[in-house]
Amino acid sequence: MPDSSTQTRATCYGEGVASSDLSACPDCAGMGTLPSGLVLTEWRLRQLEQIYATQGGEPGQDVMWLATEVRRAHHALLQILAASQDADDSDAIASKIRFLANDVLGMYPPKPV
Ligand SMILES: [Zn+2]
Repeated sequence: MPDSSTQTRATCYGEGVASSDLSACPDCAGMGTLPSGLVLTEWRLRQLEQIYATQGGEPGQDVMWLATEVRRAHHALLQILAASQDADDSDAIASKIRFLANDVLGMYPPKPV
């Protein structure tokens, strides 16, 4: 399975340029390849925050709360992933934890345990 950081999007075919007006591709920010799942999620959270910040009210507050919780969960998973990488490669539980944390974060190409 290809690394998410090297995948290209059909919208620009890896060129990094939007076909409609030759501006930077909105999916990959002109890089031609997709960043990690963590970066893609952060980009989407920022889009949602911008959209709902202007609307305000209860839905806006709910989205801001949800974005904060997603970031907190990602931060915890990053710490869990880092801690699991300190374990010996023969440690099956650490390998499983590393796989599960990475499955959400998309930092490395997935390797089944
Ligand atoms: Zn692109």
